[in-house]
Amino acid sequence: MDRESVLHREVDQGTESRDPASGAAPTAAKSTTPQTMKIRVLGCSGGIGGSLRTTALLVDDDILVDAGTGVGDLSLESLARIDHVFVTHSHLDHVTSIPFLVDTVCWMRASPIVVYGIKEVLDILRAHLFNWKIWPDFTQIPDGEKPFMVYREIKVGQTVEIRGRRFTAIPANHTVPAVGYALENSRAALIFSGDTWVNDGLWKVVNATKNLKYLIIETAFSNKERDIATASKHLCPATLAEELEKMRATPEVFITHLKPGEGALTMKEVSQAAGRWRPRMLENNQEFSL
Ligand SMILES: [Zn+2]
Ligand SMILES: [Zn+2]
Repeated sequence: MDRESVLHREVDQGTESRDPASGAAPTAAKSTTPQTMKIRVLGCSGGIGGSLRTTALLVDDDILVDAGTGVGDLSLESLARIDHVFVTHSHLDHVTSIPFLVDTVCWMRASPIVVYGIKEVLDILRAHLFNWKIWPDFTQIPDGEKPFMVYREIKVGQTVEIRGRRFTAIPANHTVPAVGYALENSRAALIFSGDTWVNDGLWKVVNATKNLKYLIIETAFSNKERDIATASKHLCPATLAEELEKMRATPEVFITHLKPGEGALTMKEVSQAAGRWRPRMLENNQEFSL
C-alpha cells in the first residue's frame, strides 16, 4: 500500500520559518538542519517510583513527544531549548510536565512553546489543565498577542515538518481521544503507538511506512489483567501478539508503558506470546538515531 494513500499529508511549512505568535522567524538561526535525528527516552513507564518516569521522548534538543514526569530530569538549560511538544493524549502521565516546563522556562525564551495535538486533546488541555484553576492559561500570559505558549491543532494523518524532521499524527484507540506519532527524516522512520488498544489504523501506517527502523508500542498490563487492559484500552501481551500479527514491516520492536512492579512478568509474557518479533523492553535514557 502506498503511504500517500494512508496519510493525508500536509507538510506544515509555517513551522519551518514562522513563529506562530509573532510571525517572526526566531528559531531559524538557532540551529541548522540536523544530520541525524536523535530520539532519547526520558520516560517509558506506566508510573513512577525510584528511577521510573512516565512517557516522554526528546527529539534532538528542541522537541518533545509527550511530556511525562521524565521531562523533569532535564537541566534548566535543556528545558529552555524545548520549542515544540507533540501530545498523544490528555492523560496526566503524558502531559504532566507541560505546565511546569512552561512556567519554569518562559522568562528565558524569546518565542512561545508550541503544543501540538488533535482538537479534542487541545480542548481538554484548555478546559481541564490550563484553565486558571489547575494551572494558569499560559496562552494568555503575559498577553494573548505574544504568549509563552501556543496551541497548534493537527489532524490524524497530518505531517508537521520542523527543519527536515517530520512528525505525523497516526491513529490510536484509547479511552480518550488519542494519536500516536510517526517520526521521520529523509533516511528512516520511528513509529510510536502512544497509548492504544486494538488498532488497525496503526498497522496500515506501519505497513506503509518506508524505511521503518523502530516501532515503540505500549503493553501496559500483564495477561492476568487482560480485562482491565481492555476496559482501559491498553494492550497486554496476548493482545500485543494478536496486533503484531497484522505487521508486515520488520522494524525493531520496543515495549513501553509497563506497569511498575510488573515489567519482568509482562516482558516474559511478551516473549512467550510475541517472541518472533523479538520485542525488547524500552529503557529510560535509551537513544535512537534516524
Ligand atoms: Zn492514556
Ligand atoms: Zn499512559
